[in-house]
Amino acid sequence: MKRLKRFAVSTLLILLIFSSCRGNERITKSEFALDTVVTLNLYSRKDEWIIEPFFRYLRELEGILDRYDEKSELRMVNEKAYSEEVVLSDVLFDVISKGFEIARETDGAFDIAIGPLVDLWQIGTRTSLPEGGDVERALSLSSWEYLDLDEEKHSIRFQKDGMSLDLGGIGKGYIASLLMEYLKENGVERASLNLGGNISLLGDGEHGKYWRIGIRRPEDDRSDYVDVIEVSSGRNVSTSGGYERYSIFDDGKRYSHIISPKTGYPVEGDLASVTVVSTDASLADALSTASYVVGSEGLEELSEKFSVRIIALKGDQSIETYDATNASP
Ligand code: AMP
Ligand code: MG
Repeated sequence: MKRLKRFAVSTLLILLIFSSCRGNERITKSEFALDTVVTLNLYSRKDEWIIEPFFRYLRELEGILDRYDEKSELRMVNEKAYSEEVVLSDVLFDVISKGFEIARETDGAFDIAIGPLVDLWQIGTRTSLPEGGDVERALSLSSWEYLDLDEEKHSIRFQKDGMSLDLGGIGKGYIASLLMEYLKENGVERASLNLGGNISLLGDGEHGKYWRIGIRRPEDDRSDYVDVIEVSSGRNVSTSGGYERYSIFDDGKRYSHIISPKTGYPVEGDLASVTVVSTDASLADALSTASYVVGSEGLEELSEKFSVRIIALKGDQSIETYDATNASP
C-alpha cells in the first residue's frame, strides 16, 4: 500500500502552550516523521548537540515500526508471520508485547491486530463504503486473540492467514518513551517533545513547575482551547479524536480513523476527543485510542484500572475529567 502523508492536512488535537517568560530560552527543532510533525524543545545550550543524534534515532525507530515502509521490520512480520514463526528485534517485541497486554486488559477495545480493518477502511483515502461481507471478513481476522507471542524466543506467529499488525495507536507513544529515555541518559534535564499529538515533558515547565497543554476546540482554528491542563515532569499526554483524520463516504457521513474491533466499523462515539495523561507514554497513547472506542461510559473504569488521568471532550463541547491517580498533575 502506498504510504500516505495523512497528517499533513490534519489539525492537531492538543498543543503545548509556550510562555514568553525569562528562563524559557527555547531551542526548537521540528521534522516531518511518522506521518506527522515531530517537535523537540530543549532549554539549555549545552544540550544542543543532541538534536542530530535524537532525530537519527527517531528515523531508526520509524524504520522498524512503519508498516507502510516496504523495508521495515513490521512490514516483514506482517508478510511472514502466518507462514512461519518470526523472531523479533528487542524494540519490536517490546512494543508488540505492550500492545498485546493493553489489548487484553481493555478487552480488545484497543487492538494491535486491527490491520485488516484499517486496510479495508483506508480512512483518509477511500470514499466508497466497503461491502458488509468485506467488513465481516476483515473483522474475523482482526483480533489480538489470534496472535501467538513467545516470550522466550521473542517471536510471533499469526493463527490466521491475512492477519496484520497496526501499531498506529501505540507506536508514537512507544517511540516517545524511548526518545525521552535517550534524552535523560544523555544528561538532558529539561525538554518537551511533541510527536503528533503525543506530548512528553521533562523537568520544570514553562509556567513554573507545570507544563500547560491546551485541548483544542474541534474544527476551529489552532489558537482556541476548550480547556488547558497542567502536567508535571515525567508525564506524557496523548489525545485521540475523530475529527483530525476521517473520510466522508458516499453515504455523506463522516467516518473516523479509529475502528471498533467489536463491530468492524469506525467508532461513532459520544466524544469529540479524549486525552490521557500517564507516566508511561505507550500507555497514554494506547489508552487514548481505547478511550475513544469505549466512549464516556467506559472512562471511569479505564482511569481506575490503569491509574491514569482522562480528560474527555464531549460532542456538546463539555469537558469531563476522570482521575484515579491521586497524584500531582
Ligand atoms: P490514535 O491516533 O493514537 O488514536 O491511533 C489511531 C490509529 O490506530 C489509527 O489510525 C489506526 O492505525 C489504529 N487503530 C484504529 N482503531 C484502533 C483500535 N481500535 N485499536 C488499536 N489501534 C487502532
Ligand atoms: Mg493512541
